Amino acid sequence: MPLYKTPAIVLRSIPYGEADKIVTLYTLDFGKIKGIAKGAKRSRKRFGNTLEICSYINLSFFEKETSELVRLNHCDLMRSFAGLREDINKLAWASYFIELVNAMTAEKIKNKMLFKLLLVFLNLIDKGILKEEIQRIFEVRLLALLGYQPLLDHCLGCKKGLSGEKNFFSVREGGILCPVCALNHPGLVSISLGTIKTLLLTQTILLEKVGRVSFSPQSLRESKTILSRFLEQYLGKDLKSKKFLEQFSPSA
Ligand SMILES: [Zn+2]
Repeated sequence: MPLYKTPAIVLRSIPYGEADKIVTLYTLDFGKIKGIAKGAKRSRKRFGNTLEICSYINLSFFEKETSELVRLNHCDLMRSFAGLREDINKLAWASYFIELVNAMTAEKIKNKMLFKLLLVFLNLIDKGILKEEIQRIFEVRLLALLGYQPLLDHCLGCKKGLSGEKNFFSVREGGILCPVCALNHPGLVSISLGTIKTLLLTQTILLEKVGRVSFSPQSLRESKTILSRFLEQYLGKDLKSKKFLEQFSPSA
């Protein structure tokens, strides 16, 4: 059984039997993996308090050909992010990001940028930057990194640039339609030029600057509706953490 090492973030951790834990992790080098931590509930020697959700750890694990679960061998805490679990408001935000990554990814597909994205956003929440913009930017960047980036810089129908104030987003086609091309298209969501420009900016802004971005109230409203409907078609279900989060976002 080969031994692997990688930085990882704990997405989920559930007790299993008398003494074990089943843990889902997003790792830098292997993408999402699921593993068993033998004796984690009893012995604190190998795992300590490293298997709490949001913990950022250095993980070593064995892969067994006969099992879908890897076997966690040892974890060192890099950063506990304990503040995210102790403050219910921050926990709601972090849980949403964690659950979104878990629900949108398949196992063992490496995506180093997605690992970095999650780490940067957990850090923002830990610092107390709880602006609704942060949720939208996380959604936009997650979609882009997974290959689902909506097309926002021209009309999907006539291919022309968008100049009018009122346009429409097609959830099914993942892009914008101008008012002319939008005729006879059912199920579109209206989107202003300002929101299109805001979303385009969020696709490219440096992650270091994300905490300083502000949307207009109209762009907050429109981008929430559009992204939530766009994500729903990939998720196929409501995330538990989304309802939890909405209790802490009064504008939701
Ligand atoms: Zn058009």
